[in-house]
Formats: sequence, C-alpha cells, structure tokens
Amino acid sequence: MNMILKGDICYSKSPTELETVENGYLVCEGKTVAGVFAEVPVAYRDFPVADYGGCLIIPGLCDLHTHAPQFAYRGLGLDMQLLEWLNTHAFPEEARYLDANYADEAYSKFLNALKRGATTRACIFATLHTPSTVMLMEKLEASGLVSFVGRVNMDRNCPDYLCEHSAAEAYLSTKEWIERTNGKFRNTTPILTPRFLPACSDELMGKLKDLQIEYGLAVQSHLSENRDEVAWVRELYPEAKSYGDALDRFGLFGGKDVLTTMAHCVLSEGAEEDLIRDNGVYVAHCPQSNTNLSSGIAPVRRFMRRGIRVGLGSDVAGGCHTSIFRAMSDAVQVSKLYWRLADQNDAPLTIPEVFYLGTAGGGGFFGKVGSFEAGYEFDAVVIDDSSISSPDAPGLEGRATVGDRNAEIDNSAAVGRYAADNRSTGVARAAIPDRIARVIYLYDDDCVIDKYARGERIVR
Ligand SMILES: [Zn+2]
Repeated sequence: MNMILKGDICYSKSPTELETVENGYLVCEGKTVAGVFAEVPVAYRDFPVADYGGCLIIPGLCDLHTHAPQFAYRGLGLDMQLLEWLNTHAFPEEARYLDANYADEAYSKFLNALKRGATTRACIFATLHTPSTVMLMEKLEASGLVSFVGRVNMDRNCPDYLCEHSAAEAYLSTKEWIERTNGKFRNTTPILTPRFLPACSDELMGKLKDLQIEYGLAVQSHLSENRDEVAWVRELYPEAKSYGDALDRFGLFGGKDVLTTMAHCVLSEGAEEDLIRDNGVYVAHCPQSNTNLSSGIAPVRRFMRRGIRVGLGSDVAGGCHTSIFRAMSDAVQVSKLYWRLADQNDAPLTIPEVFYLGTAGGGGFFGKVGSFEAGYEFDAVVIDDSSISSPDAPGLEGRATVGDRNAEIDNSAAVGRYAADNRSTGVARAAIPDRIARVIYLYDDDCVIDKYARGERIVR
C-alpha cells in the first residue's frame, strides 16, 4: 500500500539518537518505509495522505517475550518467586488450554489487548496443546499483527497434567504442529519453544534441534532468570560452562542460521555473556517480571556496551502489563536501582535508549523493523498525547475525542480522509522528545488512535 502519514514523527537512528520531525511526512511505499520528510517529495505527490496533525507517529513497539495463555490471570500471585509462582498459577492456568472453548475466549481477550495497544510485533509462548496453539495463530493472523508463536515443549520436571510424556511423543506433536503452520500464514510464524532447560530432557532437546535444522525455525526460551533455576541447571549439566553453554551444546542458542531470543538473562555474566554476544542471541529484557518474581535486574547497560542485542518483553503474566511503554519506564527505573545498588560503573538507561530497545532493538529479531529509516518494514503507531499535555499547549481542547476519531476512519478509505477538521495547526507544543518521555511514563491504550504493521492498518 502506498500512503503518507502526516504528524509529529519520532524514531531511533541509534540507541542514543532520537530523530524527530514536527509536522512531517512518513512515506510508505508497498510495505516499506521510503523515508521521513519535512515536505512531500515530488515522487510521492500522488500518494494519499492521512493527516494525523498534532499526534505523535512512532515505529510499532516490539514485545520480544510474552505468554498468551497467562494473560487471563495476570496480576495474580506476584508476591511469590518464580518457581513457586509457576507451580501455583502458571501451570494450572496453562493446563486449561486443553479446552478449546476456554482457549477461544481467553485468547480473544489477549488479542483484543494486543490490538488496542502500541505493539505491532510479538514473540509469544502458547502452551503444549496443538489445537489451541493453532487457534491462537489464526487469531493473530486475522489481527494483522506480526508474530512468532511457539507451541511449548516440556517433558520433565513439570506436573503430570502439563507434561509431554516422552520425547518421541513431543517430537511427533511438534512436527505435526509445524507442518500445519509453517509457511501457512503471512504474518504468523512458528518458533521452537523449549520452555526452559530444566523442563526439557536431553532427548527432547536433541529432537528439537532436528526440527530446527529440518525447518530452519527460530528459537525462544528462558535463560538465567532466577538463582534457584540457575543452580538447578548447574546440577543438571555440571560439565557445561554456563546455562547458555548447556543450551548451546544442543545447537539451540543462536549462531549461524539459528535466530534465537532468550528471555531475562538477569544472572548472565562472564562466559555466558560472551556466548550471547558471539552467537547473536537477542536478550528479551523483562524488567517488570524480574521485579515481580524477585528475580533481579538484568545488567542491560553492560549488555549494550558489550554489543549484545537487546529488546524489551512484557513477559505477561510475570509482568502484568502488555504495554512495551511500561517496559521502557520499568527498564529505566530498574537500571537506576542497579546503578545505585549493584554497580556504579553502569549508568542508568536513558529515555532514548529504552525507546530504541522497545522499537529497533527488539525489532531486529523480526528483520529490518522498528525504525523509520528508508528500507525498514512499515510498522507505525499514531498516538494522541493530548490527554497528557500540559496547559501551556493551547489549542488542543477542541480536538475530537479518541472515539470520534476512530469513528471517522473507515478502513478501506482511511487514508486521505482522516481528520481534516481535527488538525491542530500552528499550535505551540512541547518538544517531541519530551512528549515521548511523558508517553513512556503516562501512556494508556486509549492514547493509540491508529496503527499499521507491514504497511497495513490494524483494525482495532
Ligand atoms: Zn516467560
């Protein structure tokens, strides 16, 4: 789709550089960003323009780690630590996804939340149930969002009611699921998902590697989240140099042709950190979950300094909010505590840095995603921040409400028809970086008035 979005545009050129253009034009050619301009270049003069004057336009946010089946009970049991919380809440809830009716209802709620917010891309854990996992993928595909979805593998150290009973059975079920879904969708891709190493036998890990080679799939899992878990892996794999090394020995930890993301990495250091960097593994930093489950604080400043790829994850329901803006503010906050309490050499993260992590940082996992530089895939979110503007930004009171705005947009002819009378012209506004900072801290889903993924408008 060729189109132009007009508004106050902001995107990252690097972790430290926010690029902003007030009243600018973001050009989409096909599914790709052609560029951001102060005036529409001649070559694009016949593209339809959607005028979002006065609104912020930013790249879609990328959630590098979340659990769809945990959405329905988010907020429960967050005074526990990880392993207790898994046994008390996560596992019993996930077992319910055997029931197609329950899965249908609960996954619809998850999808509604994901569509309303500012996220356009996500890496998602489902459960070990193939039918409900396929259902989730179909719902995601229908939404227009772009995602990796994993049917979870777990064949040991988990309750009988939520366990694959042999590696052979797990292999066959996973292969059948891959055959049903791989290459079957435009925007939804299966990803291999060993839950975490203590829950997967060596035989199962070996078979997952066979599937990884056969289908060339990406991998997601958890790594070095919690002290008890790391000690457990050390007991299980005394010969491995680290938790990451134990995964690497199965060939499921990045490197050539194994696109990999690992959630948390709170306790990664030394040789494991080297391996994460050398194998190009994406760290999904989930600060809210790490706080809720007393896991700790991932040393993100150090990761970034060392050239490790980092994105942000909501980790619902270890984290209770789906918003990656929330993950951005949490990332700043925990980095301040880390600096204050753990290592004063690692300065707290800045707003441009966390904005980068939630857009281009995690976006890299999906390809050329998360920025508005020419050649990036066109994912954009339009944010009306007037509800959090200060009184010295006059002229905003008369603007239509969010509800009115949505009512005016009809999907087929949205572009070009948008809001000529909503435009705020010549109004003194706060500088775009300050508005972005306030959105990061004060955002709610009502601020999002439109979003696009791969050049297509998401119907919300
Ligand atoms: Zn998780």
